[in-house]
Amino acid sequence: MTTIRQAGAHAIVAGAGIAGLAGAAALAGRFGRVTLLDRDSLPDGVQMRLGAGQGAHLHQLLKAGEEALERLLPGVTDDFYAAGAKRMRVGRDVKVFDFGGWMDECDAGFDVTSLSRPAYEAVLRARVSALPGVTIRTATPVKRLVVSDGRCTGVELEDGETLSADLIVDASGMTAPLMTQLAAEGHAAFETEEVRINVAYSTVRFRQPEKWRGESAGFFLLPGPPGKRFGFLLPIENGEWILSVGARGKDSPPRSLAEMLAYAEQFEPSIFERVRDAEPLSELRTFRKPTANRRKAWEAAKWPERLVPIGDALSSVNPTYGQGMTVAACEADALAGLLDARSADNAGLDGLASSYLTKAGEISGRAWSLSLNSDYVYDETEGERPPTFAMNRAMAATLRKLADDDLDFRTFRYRLVHMVADANALREGAMGIKFFTALQGSMAS
Ligand SMILES: Cc1cc2nc3c(=O)[nH]c(=O)nc-3n(C[C@H](O)[C@H](O)[C@H](O)COP(=O)(O)OP(=O)(O)OC[C@H]3O[C@@H](n4cnc5c(N)ncnc54)[C@H](O)[C@@H]3O)c2cc1C
Repeated sequence: MTTIRQAGAHAIVAGAGIAGLAGAAALAGRFGRVTLLDRDSLPDGVQMRLGAGQGAHLHQLLKAGEEALERLLPGVTDDFYAAGAKRMRVGRDVKVFDFGGWMDECDAGFDVTSLSRPAYEAVLRARVSALPGVTIRTATPVKRLVVSDGRCTGVELEDGETLSADLIVDASGMTAPLMTQLAAEGHAAFETEEVRINVAYSTVRFRQPEKWRGESAGFFLLPGPPGKRFGFLLPIENGEWILSVGARGKDSPPRSLAEMLAYAEQFEPSIFERVRDAEPLSELRTFRKPTANRRKAWEAAKWPERLVPIGDALSSVNPTYGQGMTVAACEADALAGLLDARSADNAGLDGLASSYLTKAGEISGRAWSLSLNSDYVYDETEGERPPTFAMNRAMAATLRKLADDDLDFRTFRYRLVHMVADANALREGAMGIKFFTALQGSMAS
């Protein structure tokens, strides 16, 4: 980390989930002190907790998220491996069935880590709490954001204490009340977009039987319509598998282990043959995600200075595409870059929120478009499709088809999904010509 000059004396981060931890890593060293607050009593090690109930379910960290975290906390990928992460070669170890078929095996040129969500969080928490000037206060719920004269000046805690800071990061997630309250109190005016995606998950962790121990294979199945089901199996720390299966609309995912096994048997033999004799290590957990939501703060008619929302507090999409932690990490990384640029220009902190929100709108907007382009294909996703939907679908179908036959397109598609490539690359060079020729052909037929 290249620190040019400190941006301020004190920064507060409300929420110590993945976004809050990544945010605190971005602020450490750039502020004299960073106070990270969470309403939960955070565990010392790897443990599920109430404030991040989704942590029981499979969490894939995309490559762009890993790279952003690595920039914020150099060596953290090695820490993930030291905590037991499986190393998975994308294209080879990660088997993908989507929109009608298996992707042919290839080497996409990069590895990803595979850990449980509580383990990712524990590694990040250990790293962040060791950073200079960082204090983590647990069991400390934030009641509201304090705004005075158009500037966020701190937070009020549930116990009545007020903490002041030069910059406040809201990382309290989508369902926490802080953003809604801010708007209700008239300190901000922004549109909240909501799309009913109607997705539900069930998850069980298993011990890998001897026969499969050490296997690096993982499975991602998103068969596409008319199918409403999806499922993922990943090897994680301690010789375990995590199996998350899900359904859209009225189709309920399993509610017991027996139902889970029956579901897996019907759904995908390669998953069923692995888990049918495996010892379950957890209760079956369920999670409903009825909506994708985003607070379009980057277009806000009114927004206080010095307030920066990050992660799910800003935007929360269908988790089946595995983007949430990555978006949070990329936003934190962008925040660090903006702070350094402003320090270099001696620009101070006023205006930071606005330039950050533009960047965060772009980062979360990519995830929003990628996920909703897929969600809108399903009848179970409610609401009017945007005017660009038909063209976006034609482009996605063309890319999927090209990926079947052409290694360059297959690896590009993996890079796109992992958010390390941009779809704009399809407009350029030889790839662009090939892509648009195929797209025109598909639209003419
Ligand atoms: C079923 C499911 C599966 C998912 N799978 C993936 C996946 O494969 N890959 C992926 O990248 N993402 C996945 N996600 C999304 C991912 O969990 C989030 O996007 C990501 O963790 C970012 O979360 P966050 O830190 O912004 O919010 P959260 O994880 O919601 O954390 C918010 C934190 O704020 C704290 N808090 C809340 N209110 C207050 C308050 N008033 N005061 C103080 N603290 C407060 C909470 O205790 C919590 O610690 C999945 C989500 C779900 C629901």
